[in-house]
Amino acid sequence: MKIVKLKKDNLFPFLEAISGGAELWAPVKQGPEQHTFQVIRDFNEIDLDYTRTILPPNQIITPPKFNMFQATKTEYTPDFSHVSKKIIFGIHPCDIHGLLTMDKFYRYAIDDPYFLESRQNALILGHSCWPDEHCMCKSMNTHIVKEGYDLFFTDLKDIYIVWIGSTRGDDLIRIRPDLFDKELTDQDIQRYMQRREDRDEAFTCEIDFASMPDLMELRYNAPLWEELGAACLACGSCSNVCPTCNCYNVEDRPVLGQGLSNISRCWDACTLENYSAVAGGENFREKRAERLKLWYTHKLQAYISKYGTPACVGCGRCAATCPVDINVKTVADALKGEEVDAFWTRLNKEVTK
Ligand code: SF4
Ligand code: SF4
Repeated sequence: MKIVKLKKDNLFPFLEAISGGAELWAPVKQGPEQHTFQVIRDFNEIDLDYTRTILPPNQIITPPKFNMFQATKTEYTPDFSHVSKKIIFGIHPCDIHGLLTMDKFYRYAIDDPYFLESRQNALILGHSCWPDEHCMCKSMNTHIVKEGYDLFFTDLKDIYIVWIGSTRGDDLIRIRPDLFDKELTDQDIQRYMQRREDRDEAFTCEIDFASMPDLMELRYNAPLWEELGAACLACGSCSNVCPTCNCYNVEDRPVLGQGLSNISRCWDACTLENYSAVAGGENFREKRAERLKLWYTHKLQAYISKYGTPACVGCGRCAATCPVDINVKTVADALKGEEVDAFWTRLNKEVTK
């Protein structure tokens, strides 16, 4: 592992030097409180002072909708037009862990070329962050990264400490080595360690992930799920914003008169009613309670037995997004039998008054 130092004034010249042959993506402010990853045309649009983007950076690897292949009666032509050289700058540790979770998923049974090709063409330039009240990554140990990035920038006000995580990252530094300082002073190291300590202390949201697999089993038939189902709007937002969710649908759209079809892949969500609908009018998870139970079983229990880690990296997006307070924190607390001040508990009190 190599570590170098970059003066803040040298960031834009560095980004300019490396982004010549690739699309540069970075966080951009959208409205007063929100950020999204966007293709950068002007470096001044980049806003690194953010907690979480609306959608996770998976949207850059496998876009919400893309064509997979074109088929005729006798042959098919793969379409990899969503794949291009990309540099994703400004990703936070939890989202790097989200991509690592996706790596496991898309390689588990068979390699998924549509994800893997795109992933291999993307350079990951991580950036340090500061937690808000919804960040739960420290409970998952996903607030720090040891792999999954090419470069990682830790912000120390006037300088960045830059960790080089791969040979591809090293190659990037070599494009403009004059911008970097190889020697870190004692003072730089002290400042880095102090920032790390201060950040650790700034986390206020915790989840007891270790007890979740057992509790999911023990409370599988608890009335809690019906209560959650009564409050859930089935909007699918929790699934769409989650960096570890990967449900998708495949659409076959015939091009009339040409004897061919475009087969595309689009994001879907198991929290939506149509997800479990099949031909013949059957729906295996018609009730919202059943779909929520599936989502949380998947996240907090099934992933652990299959991949060794929960399908939650603690990004807090579900907490910041769900309009009725159903999120991994409130559900985990309720599973532990704790009092939760969430919409469904307030709803319950209203109904029983
Ligand atoms: S379950 Fe919630 S906190 Fe966990 S990764 Fe998904 S959106 Fe983030
Ligand atoms: S849990 Fe919340 S965000 Fe998820 S589908 Fe229900 S209402 Fe929407």
